[in-house]
Amino acid sequence: MAKVMAVNAGSSSLKFKLYEMPEEKVLCSGNAERIGHEDAIFGMKWGEESEKKILPILDHARAVELVVQAMLEKGIVKDMNEIVAVGHRIVQGGKYFSHSELFNKDTEDKIESLIPLAPLHNKAHLVGFRAFKQILPDVTNVAVFDTAFHQTMEPEDYVFPIPYELTEKYDCRRYGAHGTSHKYLAEMGAKYLPGVAHPRIISCHIGSGASITAIKDGKCVATSMGLTPLGGIMMGTRTGDLDPSVMNYLCKCTGKSVEEMYQMFNKQSGFLGVSGISNDSRDVLKAVDEGNKRAILANKIFIRRIADYIGQYFVRLGGADLIIFSAGIGENSARTREEVCDAIGTAMNVVIDKELNASIRSKEALISKPESAIKVAIIPTDEEVMIARDTYSFYKKDK
Ligand code: ADP
Repeated sequence: MAKVMAVNAGSSSLKFKLYEMPEEKVLCSGNAERIGHEDAIFGMKWGEESEKKILPILDHARAVELVVQAMLEKGIVKDMNEIVAVGHRIVQGGKYFSHSELFNKDTEDKIESLIPLAPLHNKAHLVGFRAFKQILPDVTNVAVFDTAFHQTMEPEDYVFPIPYELTEKYDCRRYGAHGTSHKYLAEMGAKYLPGVAHPRIISCHIGSGASITAIKDGKCVATSMGLTPLGGIMMGTRTGDLDPSVMNYLCKCTGKSVEEMYQMFNKQSGFLGVSGISNDSRDVLKAVDEGNKRAILANKIFIRRIADYIGQYFVRLGGADLIIFSAGIGENSARTREEVCDAIGTAMNVVIDKELNASIRSKEALISKPESAIKVAIIPTDEEVMIARDTYSFYKKDK
């Protein structure tokens, strides 16, 4: 038995979950938010209990100290040496990482060199890693990359049709994201396809960030996000795919800089931008029911983009055996699932049990009817357990 922590460090936050491995038992989970502020927030849940306090957390090292202290105080660990390994979520692994990797100098340097591709994320992940290294110097640290699962794509799926020397010189290509989630979904989805020789899965990770991945034989063949998580389907605040001339045109029209417009495409578009109401699909769907025209349009674009990608991947895979819905919207919004399945139903012979679908929230279920040509399942994603699994296996090798 070993205690392994899964960590997701952001620029001002640090989320953590402690597992007993290999049982995959969650011992506690929590979050430090507003790091860098006098009134930062630290919260932790363990068993049936939880605690939240407001206190100064001026840097990530202090946040890590608080995490360890809280675990000791609550008796979750008796000694901090019980924590044997820490797995760090890393958003961008570029072309270097097709699987998780032990955190050593080389790994650290490569993650650092990828900062231009994910400026906010990779920088924050390194700050998180270094904070752990300072507070827990002897543990095994493992980097688990959001992009790794997508490294099996073929060049025709990841190369953008730009001058090839730019692709080569700047590594400007599709990397995708949410790979850890899509890998988990593919593994979990396999049980619905017993006896299928070469399973073809389309996994829809639809939360406030959203991506769709085509998976064959457990490997990613195509994914909707691009160079960064801005590409693909429409999201809470992100545009998804756009004609690139929109950037040029709108910069000229508004006098905004490329950077300002890029921020708009990332933070003020998607559900929020089209509806003018909210980035949260719950608010938008409520407004749809009230007859708000822009909310109706936002939801229609959202559903159509998802359906278009599923159709594209159906062709890419030469058919499909299973469609999976996951993440905040995919797991919770029966209505979104139904609308997507209605949109693809006629072309792809997808038939779901609408009553069953309407009754499911946040739990695993097969919602397609037996006559459906493609099975449809809801599978709650679990990126943290994937991080813990990979980290534990490195720890065992490292021991
Ligand atoms: P992320 O991890 O990308 O921040 P999540 O996967 O947690 O996002 O998804 C969050 C989103 O899920 C919320 O913004 C909200 O739009 C959506 N969501 C959660 N519950 C529901 C629900 N019952 N109905 C519709 N949408 C929901």
